[in-house]
Amino acid sequence: MNNSWPKPTVLAYHEVLPGRPKSRYTVGCDQFDAHLRFILGCTADGAMRPQITFDDGHQSNVDHALSLLERYGIKATFFLTAGLIENRNNFMRWSQVRELIQCGHSIGAHGWSHRFLPQCDNNDLRHELDFTKAHLEDKLGQPITDVSMPGGRVDSRVLRFASEAQYRSVYLSNPWVYEKPHPHLQVIGRAMIRSSIGLGRLGGLVRQTPCTRGIIRMEQVIRASAQFIFGDSQYHRVWTALANRNNLHSSLK
Ligand SMILES: [Zn+2]
Repeated sequence: MNNSWPKPTVLAYHEVLPGRPKSRYTVGCDQFDAHLRFILGCTADGAMRPQITFDDGHQSNVDHALSLLERYGIKATFFLTAGLIENRNNFMRWSQVRELIQCGHSIGAHGWSHRFLPQCDNNDLRHELDFTKAHLEDKLGQPITDVSMPGGRVDSRVLRFASEAQYRSVYLSNPWVYEKPHPHLQVIGRAMIRSSIGLGRLGGLVRQTPCTRGIIRMEQVIRASAQFIFGDSQYHRVWTALANRNNLHSSLK
């Protein structure tokens, strides 16, 4: 593992849809287009080009984001909630996942049901990590080595199970990971991209400016305090309502 710092920022997108975004974690097509043009220019001005990832497996990633990625020649990693593929409206079908692979994009796992992994017992955790990995590999005919944590939730037990499931990289929902929390896993931070993030904030994330790092740190402290005070489940209910986001956490297993 390369422990050198700084590392390129990893960006995490969710839905990409035309028109005005209706939820906090949806970005507009025009906004995404502007982000990609900004990212293309990063190497020209000396900044490290960020890596792009998508969580959940939304069909909009294929319908709207893929053509923009292709236009600019940018490759991304798509983390799939395996139990939702071909199983729920507005999520990808397997043929679309294969189309992403044929275009040179990478596929990772995002659990089976989008349950928060620290809340799973050991059997369910193996289902979310081991079974999901085997299922994706069976459907796609290629190794799956990367996993992103649903809701960014992780603890030492989840990391141990992810390592035992033979994942090599674990992606989180905080932009920067300064320590190495597991001896055999590469644990990678990500910046969650919201509909409100314009090019100024994106530039701060990509360049990892002290101001942006301070804002992120403050947001982390506020979030951790709220989770501690209200409990993670209650915090998530409020967060889901505020973000106007479908609760993926609720159904499939
Ligand atoms: Zn997710």
